[in-house]
Amino acid sequence: MISQSALQQLNEHSCNGKSAIVTELSAELGESMHSHPVGDIAQYSHIVVGSGFFGLTVAEQLVSKLNTPVLVLEKRNHIGGNAYSEFDSETGIEIHTYGSHLFHTSNEKVWEYVNRFTTFTNYVHRVKTKSKNQIFSMPINLHTINQYLDKSLSPDEARDWVKECSAEITAQPGNLEDKAISLIGRPLYEAFIQGYTQKQWQTDPKQLPEAIISRLPVRYNYDDRYFNDTYEGLPTNGYTAWLVNLANHPKINVVTNVDFFDLKHQVQENQKVIYTGPIDRYFNYSEGVLGWRTLDFKTQTLDIEDFQGTSVMNYADLDIDFTRIHEYKHFHPERTYTPNKTIITHEYSRFASRDDEPYYPINTDSDRVMLTKYRELADKEENVYFGGRLGRYQYLDMHMAISSALGLAEELINDSKS
Ligand code: FAD
Ligand code: UDP
Repeated sequence: MISQSALQQLNEHSCNGKSAIVTELSAELGESMHSHPVGDIAQYSHIVVGSGFFGLTVAEQLVSKLNTPVLVLEKRNHIGGNAYSEFDSETGIEIHTYGSHLFHTSNEKVWEYVNRFTTFTNYVHRVKTKSKNQIFSMPINLHTINQYLDKSLSPDEARDWVKECSAEITAQPGNLEDKAISLIGRPLYEAFIQGYTQKQWQTDPKQLPEAIISRLPVRYNYDDRYFNDTYEGLPTNGYTAWLVNLANHPKINVVTNVDFFDLKHQVQENQKVIYTGPIDRYFNYSEGVLGWRTLDFKTQTLDIEDFQGTSVMNYADLDIDFTRIHEYKHFHPERTYTPNKTIITHEYSRFASRDDEPYYPINTDSDRVMLTKYRELADKEENVYFGGRLGRYQYLDMHMAISSALGLAEELINDSKS
């Protein structure tokens, strides 16, 4: 496990704007974490492209079960993919660099696995939303409904009211708007979903798949937890410490600042490649460019103790151009911070160009046609395995990425043994 002083060192590096790469931790973590130059890539049985949760989980399983050397190539200047976080040296606050990450799972195997590399706090995610200058509880629960109506309905009364309001949807809903109205009725849809969804997806909710909204629970009680899962929490020492622990093995060499495509020509036929980058990039966009949404984060340090009193505040109205504000210190109330300081991030959503970070697959009909063609090409690639959210072009929560990586690792391990 990573030591406290190594963690502190990591934090200092991150905060100074220097690259918080694994190499810089090597003195504290010992030889095991040394990031050597790539050198002769023929020495590795497996090459993992991308050091996010998917790539690192596969690497960890391969070295621990096959005792084989694995090279992990990462084009960013740090490990961890989008789950990476940094500690700000001025305030001591952990910033989720690529958007707030909340760990939750009901998968026992994944929960047991992740607990080998980190402990978790007892943080439970709860979100508030601002609509017409009033704050409500989100996801929609009995409190939201009663606040909205300024009433004290019982669960059954609230259910009856929503049923009346959703009666306009008589057929099977085929898009996000109809699905949302069928679940919560038009008034709640217009107050909390319509504007937010339009900002988030820049697409008319009638053109969006219903599955997006099915992720949000609707509750007729006062349970205001954002997630329904059995296990939930945040890594006690932060995401990067967890990710570093995952990669902390003498036979895993993580090399940052390297783009796989600059080395691809050196890969030998007998080496296995686990590719977690964008699938369309792998095939040089031969079938077209898959659509993604990206996010812009505007982060500020404020000289006040508490900006909004909670970790995430959604903004439901269309006339406010950001979707939400994150205030990271509320993720870890158990930590000590510099007094009278806080860090907040405004989040904006837009379509991604090829140079932007791809965050959420848009998954239009034409994307799905392209994806089918890419998957056919992927199936024909000898010894290359596509995984993770970019390799599959699929939104995956962390527990899903880890579960999927454990599955692929098992397949590779069985292959090597047979
Ligand atoms: P990634 O983390 O994206 O890692 C892929 C890595 O591959 C990247 O580091 C990339 O730089 C590297 N790479 C790509 N191409 C190359 C190349 N050619 N050469 C070398 N390296 C390359 N999940 C949750 O469970 N809870 C949350 O609250 C949550 N919030 C999220 C918020 C946002 C804004 C986003 C976008 C995702 C969120 N997720 C959340 C999902 C979570 O980030 C993913 O599950 C996780 O990142 C999946 O890991 P991955 O390894 O598949 O991909
Ligand atoms: N959503 C909404 N209002 C909210 C929160 C969510 O309309 O206050 C909708 C929106 O369409 C979003 C979807 O519900 O894309 C799923 O929400 P989730 O929080 O899972 O989205 P994420 O944070 O992953 O973008």
